[in-house]
Amino acid sequence: MDDKLMLMIPGPTPVPEKALLALAKHPIGHRSGDFSQIMAEVQENLKWLHQTQNDVLILTASGTGAMEAGIINFLKRGDRVLCGCNGKFGDRWAEVATAYGLNVEIISAEWGQPLDPEKFREVLEADTEKQIKAVIITHSETSTGVLNDLETINRHVKNHGEALIIVDAVTSLGAVNLPIDEWGLDVVGSGSQKGYMIPPGLAFVSVSPKAWEAYKTADLPRYYLDLGPYRKTAAKNTNPFTPPVNLFYALQVSLQMMKAEGLENIFARHHRLMTMTRDAVKGLNLPLFAPDHAASPAITAVCPPESIDAEKVRSIMRKQFDIVLAGGQDHLKGKIFRIGHLGFVCDRDILCAIAALETTLQQLN
Ligand SMILES: *Cc1c(COP(=O)(O)O)cnc(C)c1O
Repeated sequence: MDDKLMLMIPGPTPVPEKALLALAKHPIGHRSGDFSQIMAEVQENLKWLHQTQNDVLILTASGTGAMEAGIINFLKRGDRVLCGCNGKFGDRWAEVATAYGLNVEIISAEWGQPLDPEKFREVLEADTEKQIKAVIITHSETSTGVLNDLETINRHVKNHGEALIIVDAVTSLGAVNLPIDEWGLDVVGSGSQKGYMIPPGLAFVSVSPKAWEAYKTADLPRYYLDLGPYRKTAAKNTNPFTPPVNLFYALQVSLQMMKAEGLENIFARHHRLMTMTRDAVKGLNLPLFAPDHAASPAITAVCPPESIDAEKVRSIMRKQFDIVLAGGQDHLKGKIFRIGHLGFVCDRDILCAIAALETTLQQLN
């Protein structure tokens, strides 16, 4: 049915009406005082959301742009970096780092399992010459529904002392506690179409003073994603290039909504949605792809009943119930489907999706 489509994918996520209406306004000049006022407000609220006093820079890009910027601005050609790979996004950051000529060492775990912090400890402790310059971790690995133990891995990075910690928080920011200053996270990337509850198009990078120190000697090629000009212009509440002005209207509204709800409540809601989803899936006797102790609060990956293609489940959910679920990526295509519960999602959405899933399964056998 037209206009009834319910997005339950891990981005783009549903957008509240207030933000949609904000998008519909006329654009204004991005060098105007009115725009600077919006910029000042959103910058302050982004710091609140990120629990940091660090710069939180805003780019016109998708989440990948934020991560690429986060990697290339603080490293030198040939630098040794550790990449945690246990899914599609972890693999992507290893590809980006390789593309820029970094010396990439991968610490992997099976897709569906969390990264083992002990492996990071071993490699970091063995690096007595402090050659490892960065550790790149995907906090919530969206392709598998796994939440990696960033807090523990980061503790090992802090004990190493030299390496920066660069975090893909694209589906963890605004879903689970990520206290940037308390943990001392150097670079944290995210994107507007996830926990921010607005359409795709903006990307965010939080940068610590330690990372800015590294910026001074970094030598990888960069231009549009050079974070220096973003920092300089952000201090004057403006941008180096033309920003998507209407997305800023929507961001202003969505951050106000998040502030009104409060961080604790937002995290509690995501935790509840995750628990509801996982309990219901267990009740339907379907295996969950990620273990309980490493479950992402943003997305739940589910294995269909044996002999049923996950794409078949998605197709019925989409056609008959107007609910869009995500499929498996790469070798997981057909093997799992993924239920997004990130951003503007309430308990009712989960109840609907589960009821539709149960009916779908009945139809399939
Ligand atoms: C969505 C997502 C990204 C960014 O993907 P884009 O398509 O570039 O926005 C990065 N990491 C994770 C874990 C994601 O879920």
